[in-house]
Amino acid sequence: MKISGACQCGSITVEGEVDPENVRVCHCTDCQINSGSAFRFNVPVPGNTFKMTGEPTIYIKTTAESGRPRAQAFCPKCGTPIYTTSPGEGQQASYMIRAGILAQRDQLIPKRQIWFRSAQAWVTGLDAVPKVEKQA
Ligand SMILES: [Zn+2]
Ligand SMILES: [Zn+2]
Repeated sequence: MKISGACQCGSITVEGEVDPENVRVCHCTDCQINSGSAFRFNVPVPGNTFKMTGEPTIYIKTTAESGRPRAQAFCPKCGTPIYTTSPGEGQQASYMIRAGILAQRDQLIPKRQIWFRSAQAWVTGLDAVPKVEKQA
């Protein structure tokens, strides 16, 4: 499935092809802190289909919870997280795109939740929390 997306300010755009079966929610503590939220949802884009315009800032997190260093890309202007990948020059094998930036995010349904050991306790009960259609 083709995907496309952009950061909030539009300085960075991405395109690629994903397998919707690979959409994942990540509850790791790195994703909680880096997203400023309780979890993140991601989908891997193979490097040979990945296209990007604009220049993200790269932060190399050397102490990722997985134990592997990760290059985290975000927009230097608006701060939107774009992807993580392996550190290094040139094209990488895979880019873990932050699915919330994609125009197709409504069609990307998580198929797995990872690092659930650090999930916030309330995430499984969110459906029971009172809802309002807009801000209130
Ligand atoms: Zn931006
Ligand atoms: Zn994570």
